[in-house]
Amino acid sequence: MDSIEMIKIENLNKSFGSLHVLKDIYLSVHESEVVCLVGSSGSGKSTLLRCLNFLEKKDRGSIFIRGEKVSPDTHNINHVRQTVGMVFQHFNLFPHKTVLENIIEAPIIVKKIPKRQAKDEAMELLQKVGLEDKADVYPSKLSGGQKQRVAIARSLAMKPDIMLFDEPTSALDPELVGEVLATMKELADEGMTMVVVTHEMGFAREVADSIVFMNEGKIIEKNSPAEFFDNPKEERTKEFLQTTS
Ligand code: ADP
Ligand code: MG
Repeated sequence: MDSIEMIKIENLNKSFGSLHVLKDIYLSVHESEVVCLVGSSGSGKSTLLRCLNFLEKKDRGSIFIRGEKVSPDTHNINHVRQTVGMVFQHFNLFPHKTVLENIIEAPIIVKKIPKRQAKDEAMELLQKVGLEDKADVYPSKLSGGQKQRVAIARSLAMKPDIMLFDEPTSALDPELVGEVLATMKELADEGMTMVVVTHEMGFAREVADSIVFMNEGKIIEKNSPAEFFDNPKEERTKEFLQTTS
């Protein structure tokens, strides 16, 4: 099948001082593909996402977005960040702004969208994440799950082609995890290209097209959920799966 290669990573390497955190990473993500990135804590998952979004500077290797080689030296970082949205474990909403104001801020300032249009689009997004009645409240009045759904809406307001999620449900009380995963699943069903770092193996199995397993800075295995969970190839993968079940 000829689908667009949305992300291509070649030979990516990254160290923090003497700590070699990403080792010769190769990864390709196609349009509408949902990749779940799994692995134990410290294996380099966040650093990989952060390099994709230029929150960290890679040491070596190449990153292509939609076939175009991107580099913070030659590219407008804001342009890449508009194409590649990111949602973090902690919601990072502006506490002194209402939900609606949080969502319209970047479209108005970065994309120069007229305020009226930004508001209309924000209300549509709030409806999509089931929070249209919260437009005028402040983040402190929301549950963790609601905050995270606002964070997703805020990221979508920039109309990204790719969404990166870094453990979006890890900071939530267990009873709030489901509503955020449901929002993400809906986004996946609509065809969004997504890379999701998660410990939610049920979500990974159900929603992912492929699972990427990282260990000590390397990609050990990339496979379909069925193969990954039921027929893992690598010894290290088997060990990891035993710790998560
Ligand atoms: P994961 O997300 O899989 O838990 P990370 O990418 O956060 O892993 O971290 C990988 C390794 O890099 C860890 O050993 C972590 O301590 C280290 N690390 C991450 N960010 C920094 C940083 N800014 N400075 C120094 N070390 C870092
Ligand atoms: Mg992490």
